[in-house]
Parts: sequence; structure tokens; C-alpha cells
Amino acid sequence: MDGFAERLARLTERIAVAARRSGRDPATVRLLGVTKTRLPEEVAEAVRMGLDLFGENKVQEARAKIPLCPSGAKWHFIGHLQSNKARHAAALFSCVETIDSIGIAEMLDREAERCGRSLEVMIEVNVSGERSKFGATPGDLPDLIVAANRLGRLRLTGLMTMAPFSEDPGAARPYFARLRELRDDVTTRTGLVLPELSMGMSDDFEVAVEEGSTIIRIGTALFGPRKSLMARRGEDADEGP
Ligand SMILES: *Cc1c(COP(=O)(O)O)cnc(C)c1O
Repeated sequence: MDGFAERLARLTERIAVAARRSGRDPATVRLLGVTKTRLPEEVAEAVRMGLDLFGENKVQEARAKIPLCPSGAKWHFIGHLQSNKARHAAALFSCVETIDSIGIAEMLDREAERCGRSLEVMIEVNVSGERSKFGATPGDLPDLIVAANRLGRLRLTGLMTMAPFSEDPGAARPYFARLRELRDDVTTRTGLVLPELSMGMSDDFEVAVEEGSTIIRIGTALFGPRKSLMARRGEDADEGP
């Protein structure tokens, strides 16, 4: 019957079990549907089923898609933000989860000002130190936090990370635990409260919930396997990775 409804129900149950196992209230974990390569109709169905938080990782794709989606949906940007896309990002998203430099924070602040709005931001941390990953180093965090807090149009709400790919979900645990420790260190040292930890994807969200995630970013476990956008549209994607 309805594949999406079943996947959503199964996911909700697994989130609740993981939360209770670690003594958390399941209501403190938000499910963000990752809609890269998905069509506006798929977003609309998700909204009908009660999901209201979504994420895109490419500004170009989001620009084409978001205006065609139900207006009640909230959007987070979860990809690497290039400075020449900051203007559109500030207009399209309620939160940019992937701030990783003072320069990009300043640019977003300027663009949010131009739009007459404020923007939630989170700092992406490259906890694993993998060269292939974007994100600030843990050592960059203190300066970046001070800078982001100085910017009047940005509201810093937390930290985001991606664990290295692994067949074993348990392998992600140290990276998620480290992100939580980094967040707790900030609070201890500065008194600044950063409530959000965006961590956990289809293959490792239960471990992330156990380690304190407040936003899990789920694509395939919710919408099914991804085909490439190119294959679905029969045309070249407009943006590189
Ligand atoms: C694609 C993506 C996800 C979701 O991945 P799935 O494995 O499909 O759940 C989460 N976070 C980011 C940053 C992504 O690009």
C-alpha cells in the first residue's frame, strides 16, 4: 500500500525505542526529511503525513523545488554552502546547518539583512577530520561561535556533523559522542546554550539518538532508495557536488 506511510511509522517507532533506551523523551528528537533528488509531490505527501521539516543539500535544486512545495514546510540547508549561493540560501531556508567559516557566516548575515529576516544557523564540525569532509575543525569552534553570535541576523542554535561512512552503525558512536562533548564544552566555558545537535542519517540514526541528537536527517529510510536526479529528469544536473 502506501510505502511512505509505512516507512514513516517504522522510523517513528525506531526513534522512540532508541530515545527511551537512552532515557530520552522521543519528542525531543526531530525528524528532518532529506528531499534531495525527490519531487515536490513526494514532499507534499510527506507534509500530508505530518512531516514539516525538510532538508536540501544544493541551493540550485532547492530553488527549483521549494516554491512548488506546501508552504507549511520548513527547510534546512544541509549541504556545503558556496559564497555565491548565500543570497538564495538566506531567502529559501529557515536554518543553514553547515556554517564552517566566519566568512560564510558574515555573508549569510548580510544576505539575511537584505531579506529583512533572521536566520537560524548551526556550525558543521568535521569531527572525524576526514579530508573529504567539509566543516570546521573542533579547534575552529571557539572563534566561529564568537563571530556567529556577534552577527545580528544569525541565531546560532547548535552543531551538526556527519559520521564517516561505515557498514557498522556502531562505528559512528564516537563521532556523535564527540560532537555532544564539544557542545557541552562550549556551554561550560561560555555559558552559551546550544540546544541542537544535528546528527544521524538512515544508517546510524539510532546511535545518534542515543548520543543526544535532536535532529536526525533521514533520506532513504523515509523516501526509499535515491535515483539520481539526472536519471529521473533525463537531463544534466546543474550543479557539481
Ligand atoms: C543525503 C544526506 C542525508 C540523508 O542520507 P540518507 O542516508 O539517505 O538518510 C543526511 N545528511 C546530509 C548532509 C545529506 O546530504
